This record gives sequence, C-alpha cells and structure tokens, in this order.
Amino acid sequence: MTQARQTHGFQAEVRQLLQLMIHSLYSHREIFLRELISNASDANDRLRFLALSAPELLAEHPELAIWIDFDAKAGTLSVRDNGIGLSREEAILHLGTIAKSGTAEFFGRLTGDQQRDAQLIGQFGVGFYSAFIVAERVEVFSRRADLPVTEGVRWESSADGEFTVETVERAARGTTVVLHLKADAREFADPWRLRTLVRRYSDHIAFPVRLPKEGANLEYEVVNQAQALWARPRTEISDDEYRAFYRHIGHDGADPLIWSHHRVEGKREYTTLLYVPSQAPFDLWQRDAARGLKLYVRRVFIMDNAAQFLPLYLRFIKGVIDSSDLPLNISRELLQQDEQVEAMRSALARRALDLLTKLAGEDAANYAIFWKEFGRVLKEGLSEDPSNRERILPLLRFASTANAGEEENVSLADYLARIKPGQERIYYVIGENHAAARGSPHIELLRKRGVEVLLLADRIDEWVMGQLGEYSGKRFKDAARGDLQLGALADLGDEERADAALKGSKGLLKRCKDALGERVREVRPSARLEDSPACLVRDESALSESMRRLLQAQGQTPPATEATLELNVAHALVRYLDQLGKGEDFDDLARLLYDQACLTDSGQVEQPAEFTRRLNRQLVRLAGAH
Ligand code: ADP
Repeated sequence: MTQARQTHGFQAEVRQLLQLMIHSLYSHREIFLRELISNASDANDRLRFLALSAPELLAEHPELAIWIDFDAKAGTLSVRDNGIGLSREEAILHLGTIAKSGTAEFFGRLTGDQQRDAQLIGQFGVGFYSAFIVAERVEVFSRRADLPVTEGVRWESSADGEFTVETVERAARGTTVVLHLKADAREFADPWRLRTLVRRYSDHIAFPVRLPKEGANLEYEVVNQAQALWARPRTEISDDEYRAFYRHIGHDGADPLIWSHHRVEGKREYTTLLYVPSQAPFDLWQRDAARGLKLYVRRVFIMDNAAQFLPLYLRFIKGVIDSSDLPLNISRELLQQDEQVEAMRSALARRALDLLTKLAGEDAANYAIFWKEFGRVLKEGLSEDPSNRERILPLLRFASTANAGEEENVSLADYLARIKPGQERIYYVIGENHAAARGSPHIELLRKRGVEVLLLADRIDEWVMGQLGEYSGKRFKDAARGDLQLGALADLGDEERADAALKGSKGLLKRCKDALGERVREVRPSARLEDSPACLVRDESALSESMRRLLQAQGQTPPATEATLELNVAHALVRYLDQLGKGEDFDDLARLLYDQACLTDSGQVEQPAEFTRRLNRQLVRLAGAH
C-alpha cells in the first residue's frame, strides 16, 4: 500500500540555510559527519528511553548502535541508526522546517557576507541539513520503532527548494541517511578518512559507531570508545574530547570557556559535567526558551533541557547530569516536586559559581568574554539567590571612573584595593548608558577628590544595587541619592562651606522653590557639585525617574516626584540668578536650571518645546545684554 509520492517545499528559512550551506561552507566540510552521527545518537537515546515503558520496542535488536557504510565507486555514504526513527509526518516536519527557537533572529543576523555568515551558521548548529555540504542528493529511509514495517518513509531532496516523501516498506526500525556525494566530495567515501573523522569528532558518542571491516564482507568493527564520556575517569579524557562532547550536547559550534566534571558520592550519587559557553544563544532572553541540562539516570537518557537542576540566573550553563538514585520514570512534573532534585539544584548552583570563580581567577581574558555574554544574566542571581550573594558579588564586573573606557572590567576587589583611606562606602552611579553615568554631575566632587565611582547602565541595576547591602564591610552608596556620606573623606572645610552656602543662599533657595512649585520637594545647596550648576537628588528609597516612567508605561500612577533640586551656589549662573529680581527672567532661569538637571538625570525634560523657547529667549536676551 505504497502511498503516492508527495512533493513539499522547504520552509523559507531552510531554503536560506541550504543555500548558505552549499555556497558558503567550504572549509571544515567534514562536520556533516559529526552532525549526522549526533542525530543518530539522539535517536538511539530516545528509543532507549521509550523502551523503559515499552521494552518490546527493543526486542528485535536490543543493541543500539550506529553504522557507517560507503561505496567509493558509486560515491555514496550512509549513516544508519536503529533508534526511534521517523514517521512520514515527522519526516515532513523535522526535515523540512527548523524548530529551533530564535531561528528568526538568527536569519535576521545574516549579512550576505559569506565568511561571516558561515561562522554564524557554525554557531547556530547546522544539524541534518549539513548533509548538503557534501551531497548533491540526500535520501532518508526511516521507520518509527512503534510503527509496522509497511509504514516506513523515504524522503529525498537535491536541496533545490523541494523534497519528496513516499511511504515504503522498511524492515529495520530507525533511520538511514544516504548521501550521494558531490564530485568534489568523494574523498569522504574512504575507510581511512571516515575512521579518522569518527575518532576525532564522535569518539565520545555513547553508542558503538561501526565501520565495515576492511577486506571482510558485511563485517563491522567499532571505531569509537562507545562509552558515555562523563562516566569515564577525568584523567583519561582529553580537552579535545571534552570540547567535542560539548559540541554534541550544546549545539554550539564555538568552544566552551571552561568546564567541570564531577562525581558526587554518598547519600546521593550523581555525576555532573557542566560547561560555560563562550557565546550567548540567540534566545537567552526569551522566557520560554529551552534551557537546562541533559538528564540521564544510570546512563539512560531521560530528557533534554531539564531546567530544574539550575536556577534561572545560571540558565546559560550547559551540560549533563547523570543520577544514580532518581527513578527511571521521572517526569518533569515529578522533578519539580522532588526534594532530592532541590538539593541537587543548590549543589549544582554552587558548583557552577565555583567554576566561574575559577575562570575569573585563572583566565581574565576568557572571563571578560563570559561577562560580556552573560554578565547581565548572572546579575539576576543577586536577587534570585540571596544565599549565594557572597559567591556572586566577587564575580561582578563594572565600568568605572578609574578606567577610561566603557568596558566592564573592574571587580569589587579591584575597587577595594584602590579605596581611599577612611572611605567607608562603595560609590556607584547609574545612567542611561556608561557615558551618561560617567558624565553625571552627581559624582563631580567624588571625581575631584579622586574617589572611584562604579558606572552602571542597566535597567535592572538600580533595583539590583539597591538591595545589595555591603561587600567586605563597605556599604554600597548611590552617589545620586541622599547625602554623599563622605565620612572621613570629608575635608575640614566642607562643613564650614556648607554652613556658609546655606546661610548665604536662603533667600535664593526659597525663591527657586516658589518658582518651581510642586516639581521639586526642596531646593538646597549642593555638596556634590563642582562644575555643574544644578542636579536632582532623591532619597535612598525614592523611585527613580526611569522607574516612574516604567510604572506609568504599565498604566500605574506612581507617587508624586520626590526629587530635590541641588544648586551649586558657587556657580556663576547661580550667582547671576541670585542677583535677578522677581519676574519672568528669574522664573525662566530657575526653570532652565531645573530642566538641565532633569536632562542629566533622565535624558528628558517635561516639555521640550517650551524648554527650547525658554532657553532661546534667555540666550537672545543675554547676547543682547553683553
Ligand atoms: P536538531 O538535531 O538540532 O534538532 P537537525 O536539523 O539535526 O536539528 O534535525 C532535525 C530533527 O530531525 C531532529 O530534531 C529529529 O527530530 C529529526 N532527526 C534527524 N535525524 C534523525 C534520526 N537519525 N533519527 C530520527 N530523527 C532524526
């Protein structure tokens, strides 16, 4: 009952991927073999898992394996597994579309520059379609393990935008991918070449990979280690093997930055192999993106993306956990309730943080890569996981007034090493971006006194920093809030100057407050300004302007502003203001000072058009006056 052959078009993204694959990937063409073996291994893993509850699925051929055949004369090469297989519908779906999240973003990033795009494809993980790097035509024969022999499927394509499927009889369960090699890729139909490639790229695959024995007919020999990599002793695994394994489980073409392989014995027994990737996946910020470890129970694959074993802020960690104690029939729901899993999660979080600490200590250059890719995610841990705050704090990196660039490379330990004698606070300031933070009027005095200020530019920083408390006995202090709390840093003249400023400007302050009305809570002389005439200051606990805007955008009504306007009473403009009598010019200038302070505070003024008119009115007047 062979069902008619059907022709389907590839999804647009697949078409694009195939074009790139065929025209851009000329170096490292051999990766196609690693990708196909990796898929075969996954298919075997899946069947073994299904067989836990339906052992009859394995009955006919209990040993799961992978076979590679070739025919040099015909120029064909095939990769065969006896795993779960594909139904006709699955073949249409899985070998015609890309299901990966972030696919749209990925294709948005392609530039048309072949070399760059080829690199990007490597990062995306090329998968099944990589067969077309070396093949002009690909046939897939498959049968799902739980379907009858009459329901096999034959899929075929020449990568010209279409593929065909037809229902065929297939005795063996599982999948055979047959590559009809391009004329310039026939070198791959060679036993020596294949053996070398399997050893290099797929040695870690936990199933035997078999190649035909030379000279013998229909006899095969195993060419890989055929043992779960994490189950082998650390000392016997080379760095290259660890990296190759990462590529297999991580679907990431780039090498990991560091890894940790660990066996826990005692009450609970499990092995973990954790990797820190060197580049963020496309979907790092997507809420529903797949994340988590590959879960095995006593070497049997149970599930991908077991998210329960790591907290959300460590979602970038990739790897494997193999438990000796969890039941084989554990489900995602059960994982969520299991106390043992909870305990493992804490232990794994610590292990991951230790791994990052090690990277930071041993390899500053690679740690900088990590921080650039994942620093913002790690920061979430400060509030998500207060119990590990002491471990996370030393891992933070900041831009700082001590350095010229925007790069975040200053640790809290660096800050403390440079701290001024008598300095009791770790100062920071938050801006729309690092440059805005660096230019903030709030830190003028601190900068003049040579006090280092950490520069922050993330939306969540305000919230994160606000709840940090202290590091190494020094409290964190937002330089834009409340009093600067200079403590022993204050010099002898400071207090006198402050008193004099207050006395000498009482009238001015009052008139300014009257002119500004409810816009500000108070107008007072500033102890933090040096060069700027004015700035806005809030109490330690008051909402910032960006928070207020956020709430407003969500349709809420935030409380009235609690900002105080601080004036630099020594500034020429403020002295000039003091001399003006009551009237429009005074009101204009007072309002301009306030609007300036709003601009440096949040990058916005209340009514830009009015601001501009007022500014121009005063400029014209002053230009005429002098
Ligand atoms: P990925 O493996 O990253 O999901 P691929 O393009 O390599 O992407 O494969 C797409 C899908 O095709 C797989 O997720 C799987 O469902 C199916 N597939 C590929 N190879 C096999 C195979 N040998 N056996 C069963 N299914 C397979």
